[in-house]
Amino acid sequence: MALQWIQGRIARKHVWYDGLFTLAIECPGVVPFECGQFLQVGIPLDDKHLHRPYSVASPHSNTLEFFIVRVDDGELTPRLWSMSEGDAIDVSAKATGSFTLQHAPHAESIWLLGTGTGLAPYIAMLRDPKIWQSYKKILLVHGVRYPSDLAYLDELEEYEKSHAGQFKSISVVSRAEYDRGISGRITTAIESGKLEEMAQTCLSPDSSAVMMCGNPQMLDDVEAILNGRGMRKHKRSELGHYVVERYW
Ligand SMILES: Cc1cc2nc3c(=O)[nH]c(=O)nc-3n(C[C@H](O)[C@H](O)[C@H](O)COP(=O)(O)OP(=O)(O)OC[C@H]3O[C@@H](n4cnc5c(N)ncnc54)[C@H](O)[C@@H]3O)c2cc1C
Repeated sequence: MALQWIQGRIARKHVWYDGLFTLAIECPGVVPFECGQFLQVGIPLDDKHLHRPYSVASPHSNTLEFFIVRVDDGELTPRLWSMSEGDAIDVSAKATGSFTLQHAPHAESIWLLGTGTGLAPYIAMLRDPKIWQSYKKILLVHGVRYPSDLAYLDELEEYEKSHAGQFKSISVVSRAEYDRGISGRITTAIESGKLEEMAQTCLSPDSSAVMMCGNPQMLDDVEAILNGRGMRKHKRSELGHYVVERYW
């Protein structure tokens, strides 16, 4: 079925670092969606329409946020990166996807694992009351290569203060020493027990739900580790422990 487009306007562009940015797009008329779902964002180009799926990094409203990284040899993102406030940009009218709390397992704690811009759906969820009412503990784990790839740190710090004891945000930096979180990879931090130690929470089948999003290699590796711990993919037909969103 052909996508229906809403012509939006860039209300704000926030640059976190070279090539890493958030676009706030004013696009009234998008059908209400659940946090964690994605929309298509794009532009007309010559005789075609160039668009890609992006997790919405904010709950439903007239202005929606998208957290994007420029892929240097990519088709769309270098064009999005060069756009400015006031520019016209298309957003699909209807969100899709099942990477939402409604489709996540119930448990005492929920681990939100993301690499790079895989943080986006979690920012939307944390801005919405549902997650705070559904889980006793929320552990956000953001894996990046360099400290400059970290984003939304102030907002995450605010949640740690406003939801002390319920929320913990852990940054994991793989290619540089990082003393405000963990240096290394999410996978090694799980295997060594460092992640659980820092979170002061067990990652186990009887108490944990896991959502994971971003780089496919991280997703495959974490799935293998969780399977080794007796955790299984959560499906509507068969209750399990984790759900996955692949970006490519
Ligand atoms: C459900 C879903 C949600 C997504 N949400 C986001 C999001 O919130 N933010 C975001 O930046 N991207 C997101 N993506 C990826 C996005 O759709 C595009 O693939 C990406 O922006 C590259 O587009 P492009 O046209 O520039 O590159 P293309 O010419 O389409 O090249 C694609 C290649 O770029 C690389 N790539 C794709 N995404 C990334 C990424 N995030 N980081 C590093 N390399 C990447 C991969 O090697 C991929 O094969 C999402 C993808 C899916 C399927």
